[in-house]
Amino acid sequence: MRIVTFTHAGRRQVGRLDAGAVTPLAVDAREGAQTLIDLLAAGNHMPAAGAPPLRLADVQLDAPLPRPRRNVFCIGLNYRSHAAELAARGFNGAKTAEDLLPKAVVAFSKVPESVIGPGAAIEMPAASSAIDYEAELAVIIGKAGKRIARAQAMDHVFGYTIVNDVTARDLQKRHQQWLIGKSCDTFCPMGPWIVTRDELDAGRLGVKLWVNDDLRQDGTTADLVFDIPAIIEALSATMTLLPGDVIATGTPAGVGMATDPPRWLRSGDRVRVEIEGIGTLENPVV
Ligand code: MG
Repeated sequence: MRIVTFTHAGRRQVGRLDAGAVTPLAVDAREGAQTLIDLLAAGNHMPAAGAPPLRLADVQLDAPLPRPRRNVFCIGLNYRSHAAELAARGFNGAKTAEDLLPKAVVAFSKVPESVIGPGAAIEMPAASSAIDYEAELAVIIGKAGKRIARAQAMDHVFGYTIVNDVTARDLQKRHQQWLIGKSCDTFCPMGPWIVTRDELDAGRLGVKLWVNDDLRQDGTTADLVFDIPAIIEALSATMTLLPGDVIATGTPAGVGMATDPPRWLRSGDRVRVEIEGIGTLENPVV
């Protein structure tokens, strides 16, 4: 099943997407609503009373979770190909990819207010001159849990979407901790919808990103250092995961900082992320 959050006639709603038609559901889509994923995960997919299906082309898609209930969890250095390209540039003093491969999950976060939907503009802050992109598969948690064992981890997944982990590299470096460089307003494009877990084998999905027509990232989730069960096990070891939590699982090789000279985003660019089995997330840069 594909779940969309959309705006039509000035009203934000949640719907089910089938073959280009959006059926509004009887769940509350108000911004900040904490119950959305609880309701959906509990099987509450009742169509809204008296609401006819709409054409996808006639609605404006929003981020599937326009304002996550808390910070978006993000995993760093989680593709072997990405670690290799950063090692080649001497990132963190590394000489080989092996030096950069984390021994334990590297986690940071983006504030909920950084989330924007498909088509919304990534706004370049005046404080940065090094804006980068990161195509990522994102996991949506559907069932709360703590100390979740690897074997049960997938039971806690509601579905998947796409996140572009937009990053101000200069701020990321200057402030040491990554929160500021990762959490600028508009730096978390998300969408275009949630694909439920039953429809996707997330272990081997193509992850691609274009800047305008230039293919920059072309990876596969088979290259993950820590797979989804390992990430859930690590995060939930000490923190209770909650329905509606979003976990961006890291980015493959091809980021702008990995080339010499770096290829930063510029005003007027369009960034398009495509993940196999999910769809396409495109955002302009201004
Ligand atoms: Mg990232």
